[in-house]
Amino acid sequence: MAHDVHIIGGGLAGSEAAWQLARRGVKVRLSEMRGGGGETPAHQTDGLAELVCSNSFRSDDHEHNAVGLLHHEMRGLDSLIMRAGEVARVPAGSAMAVDRDVFSREVQAMLEAHPNVEIVREKVDALPDGGLTIVATGPLTAASLAESIGRATGSESLAFFDAIAPIVHRDSIDMSICWMAARWDRGSSLGDGKDYINCPMDKEQYLAFHQGLLDGEKTEFKEWEANTPYFEGCMPVEVMAERGVDTLRYGPMKPVGLDNPHWATAAHPSGRWPYAVVQLRQDNKLGTLWNMVGFQTKLKHAEQVRLFRTIPGLENAEFARLGGLHRNTFLNSPTLLDRQLRLKRAPHIRFAGQITGCEGYVESSAVGLLAGLMAVAELAGLEWTAPPRTSAMGALLAHITGDAEADSYQPMNVNFGLFPPLPEVKKKQRKEAYTERAKADFGAWLAASEVVPA
Ligand SMILES: Cc1cc2nc3c(=O)[nH]c(=O)nc-3n(C[C@H](O)[C@H](O)[C@H](O)COP(=O)(O)OP(=O)(O)OC[C@H]3O[C@@H](n4cnc5c(N)ncnc54)[C@H](O)[C@@H]3O)c2cc1C
Repeated sequence: MAHDVHIIGGGLAGSEAAWQLARRGVKVRLSEMRGGGGETPAHQTDGLAELVCSNSFRSDDHEHNAVGLLHHEMRGLDSLIMRAGEVARVPAGSAMAVDRDVFSREVQAMLEAHPNVEIVREKVDALPDGGLTIVATGPLTAASLAESIGRATGSESLAFFDAIAPIVHRDSIDMSICWMAARWDRGSSLGDGKDYINCPMDKEQYLAFHQGLLDGEKTEFKEWEANTPYFEGCMPVEVMAERGVDTLRYGPMKPVGLDNPHWATAAHPSGRWPYAVVQLRQDNKLGTLWNMVGFQTKLKHAEQVRLFRTIPGLENAEFARLGGLHRNTFLNSPTLLDRQLRLKRAPHIRFAGQITGCEGYVESSAVGLLAGLMAVAELAGLEWTAPPRTSAMGALLAHITGDAEADSYQPMNVNFGLFPPLPEVKKKQRKEAYTERAKADFGAWLAASEVVPA
């Protein structure tokens, strides 16, 4: 079958993109390497949209939760992933969990039954030179294609362990304990130069924290991850702690040049250096999310929450993302892709799914859905208008395509920290306020869109 769009990768994003295109009359070739001689270290079957780990799409609460809101918006766009998810749904409280086999079978059956979709079991080794293409090959993209993407983007290597450090919601940090400053007052020329949030520790607090890192329960590497090298500068914080009691005080917790104004005295009017400092760096342009610098970690998630809340100023920290290390292939999308997910250097190629730097089944599917709609608009010569920035889809897309800080870009789940803030609303009512605003704005976008009706 002659095709209009070539989708590479029949995972969550590729399957969703294929569905969105096909039901708008676009002919799609969907290339999936599993079942055609290719395999990944995590997939177990040849089924499309296989869930490689948990069977959960997380919260389905669209009134208080950003991922629940994303479900809601995707349902509004007749998402294949959400449809198949309903068919395969199993009881899981307020979360949406699925029977993974039923789910994958359903996705595959829907696509196989569609006359506009041709599923081809083949491994694609290089980016095509021409023709509208959507690359949705995921975190475990085959090495040959990853090399081709690396050449096209100028990135030396795309496969490495994520240096994932925890990210904290700004409004959960206690600024009566922390303070804003750059070391030796040498901040960037952006803003007022006080670039970092600094959390001070005295000696006793530091020693207890160091011991906590040594004692904390860690996640073990999977066997297949053992051959992937650590990304430069991505040493887990607990591994550094094992090297000696002071290693962190000479590394990410270095206190020099950081006068704590909360400790100011007549003799030291600008304050004193703490014994150790945890620094947080702004992670998004809105300034709502802050990254714990150098705190990439393999500590178990519950352990991270417990231990990191012992850091002065972070006692009530809410985490937008916890730390972790695993192999992941993804692009520095804010610099490489345009606002329509197209490779700036080769705009016939669009990327979708986790390879763009979103994280999670639902987010990857949502970005696949958007890539499909964008390709529909491009083929039909229609102007593309992105979903509003205040919606879950719009916030995620904006983050990937330019709003995230490119230097520290790491895979990201959808969360309210990506949304334009609502400081005038009381904190307790913010989640409802975000979702209400999102629903109103998203609804208006849907009603006005020329691309969406199928
Ligand atoms: C070990 C591991 C555990 C994870 N656990 C979770 C979890 O519990 N919850 C969660 O929400 N997310 C989890 N994720 C993230 C999850 O994988 C993604 O969120 C989601 O699957 C990404 O969707 P995708 O469509 O971008 O990629 P995928 O679903 O991985 O799909 C990519 C597809 O492309 C195919 N492919 C790759 N290269 C080629 C090629 N060259 N030619 C043709 N086909 C190719 C692959 O076979 C695959 O089918 C995990 C990831 C990993 C690696």
